[in-house]
Amino acid sequence: MANGYNQDKYGDIDFYPYSMNGVNFTGKFAETYPKYWLKNLLKLNLPCPCCGKQMIPLDEVKALPAAGVFSGACLTAVNALEQFEEYMKPVEYNIMQIIKPIANKYPEIDLQELIILLSFEYESSLIASQLTLLNELKQAGENLTEKDAQELQAIIKTAKEFILKKRPVKFKRKIFLNDINEYISRIDDSETQSKLRALAEKMPTSEDSVSAFIMKYKDRSPEEIGERMLMYSAATLEHITPDSQNGEVTIWECQKCNNTRSNAPIVSQISENPQMLDNLRTHIQILIDKSIFLKNHGGNEQSKKLLDYAKAIRDEYLLNIEQYKNMAISIENEALEKLEFSEMPISKDFIKENSL
Ligand SMILES: [Zn+2]
Repeated sequence: MANGYNQDKYGDIDFYPYSMNGVNFTGKFAETYPKYWLKNLLKLNLPCPCCGKQMIPLDEVKALPAAGVFSGACLTAVNALEQFEEYMKPVEYNIMQIIKPIANKYPEIDLQELIILLSFEYESSLIASQLTLLNELKQAGENLTEKDAQELQAIIKTAKEFILKKRPVKFKRKIFLNDINEYISRIDDSETQSKLRALAEKMPTSEDSVSAFIMKYKDRSPEEIGERMLMYSAATLEHITPDSQNGEVTIWECQKCNNTRSNAPIVSQISENPQMLDNLRTHIQILIDKSIFLKNHGGNEQSKKLLDYAKAIRDEYLLNIEQYKNMAISIENEALEKLEFSEMPISKDFIKENSL
C-alpha cells in the first residue's frame, strides 16, 4: 500500500477506499477499541446505523477482484455478485436485475462488455432526463434580470452541446455543477437561488440513476465495475463526532452513508432520515445482545468491554444531539426515548459527566 497511515494488525485493509485516507485513528478510544477489535463486530451482521442496510466487510469486497472473479466471463462475475444482492444499494440492485438475464444470454463477454452492450439502450434515456432537467432550470430562471437570464441560458446551452455530443469530450456532471453553482452564487435573488440549486443537484448521477451508472461505467474496467457494485455497501468506520472536531468514537457505517454525511452534525443527518434512530437502536441492541450472550457463556471480560463500547457510541450520539438540540428539540426527546436500554440506562447527568 502506498500510504503508510495504517500500520496496525489490519494494515493491509484500506478502511477508507474513496475519500477518507487522511482520517485519524488516535486517542484513548482507539487504544481501548483498536481496529482489529472493532472488525470482529462485523461478524454480528450489524445494520448500518444510518440507512439500516446490512454491510459487507471491506476485505470481502476487495477479495473478489483480487481472486479475479470480475476479470473473465460475466456470468462468473454476476454469480459472485449475486450472493451480495440483498446488501446492495437501490441502483446497484436494479443493475443486477438488468444484467442477470443478459449474462445468461452472453455468458462469455466480460462485465465491461456487458455494460457497453447495455449502453446502446440506456444512453437515450439518460440524455432525455438530462435535457428535461436543463429545461426545468431554464424555466426556474424566468424571473431573473435579462442579463442573469442570458448568462443562465449560456450555461444551459453549453451543457446541452456536451450532452448531445456536439463537443468532442464527455459531459461531466461535476463540471456542470461547478459552473452552475458558481453562477447561482452571483445572482441576487435568494428564492431563485435555492430553486436553481435544488434543481441542479437533480442532474442524474451513477448513485441515483441506472442509466447514468451504465453510461459512466461503460468506460471502466470489469474489475472496477464489479467492485463498484459492492463498494457503497462496504462497512467503514465513521467518527460520530467528526474527526475535524477531534471526535474519537467510531461506529461501523456503510460507505454510502459515510460519504453522504461528510462533516454535517448528527441532528441534520437524523432530520433527513427519520428512520435513523430506529436503525441505530437496532445496531446497539445487537451489541447488547451479544454482550449478554458472552456473559452467560463465561466471557465476562469481553462482555463488559462490548457493553462499554455500546454505551460509548450511544452516549456520543446523545452528546452530539444535545449539542445541536436547538436545530430540532423533537429529535432530542425521541433520542432519549429510543436510545434508552435497560442494560445501560441513560444517566440523568450524562452530559455533565461527559463534557467535563
Ligand atoms: Zn448506510
